Amino acid sequence: MRRFDGDQLVIASHNKGKLREIAELLTPFGITVTSAADHGLEEPEETESTFVGNARIKAHYAAKATGLPALSDDSGITVDALDGAPGVYTADWAETPAGRDFPMAMTKVWSLLEERNAPFPRTAAFRATLVLAWPDGHDEVFEGIAKGQVVWPMRGHLGFGFDPVFLPDGETETFGEMDPAKKRDMTHRADAFRKLVAGCFA
Ligand code: IMP
Repeated sequence: MRRFDGDQLVIASHNKGKLREIAELLTPFGITVTSAADHGLEEPEETESTFVGNARIKAHYAAKATGLPALSDDSGITVDALDGAPGVYTADWAETPAGRDFPMAMTKVWSLLEERNAPFPRTAAFRATLVLAWPDGHDEVFEGIAKGQVVWPMRGHLGFGFDPVFLPDGETETFGEMDPAKKRDMTHRADAFRKLVAGCFA
């Protein structure tokens, strides 16, 4: 596994919630973190049907464009009774002509579960794939998971995306209600991140 020995890293994401979480997770390593937007990069099209495929597209695009190592995250929620949907299409399910509407996407997930008369608990998982790519084309891949269930109605205004309907295993608060510092340590991204740190930063 290739170690990260630079002092600058580009986060290949335009999602403010993710940028904040990733920058906080990287604070202890004294690395200067910039975002794809800081470098004036566009969002490449995510044309693959897997988390790792899309994470690779984003990380390699940013690494080549900036000449710096780049870290991307592709993530989403997989709902078991919906055969893993929305999965890699989590953000797409929220797309509207006026921008992303997550309450609408969460309502769609719950309606489909109701239509299918899905048994309780309506198990689901947030999944994250991190790809660290270097300008020479090398990459390292790390996968993380946070298990739980989809609940209704939406609860809490903290966090982002599908947080208000995700109740992690063993907890009484949804990710939308939970103290962000507590959520940060429990997420799929934190899980993938621990693997990244052990593999490339330790
Ligand atoms: P992408 O990885 O940018 O393609 O988008 C994944 C989508 O999954 C995001 O837009 C969020 O809606 C959702 N998602 C990923 N991680 C989280 C999380 O920690 N909480 C809530 N939603 C998330």
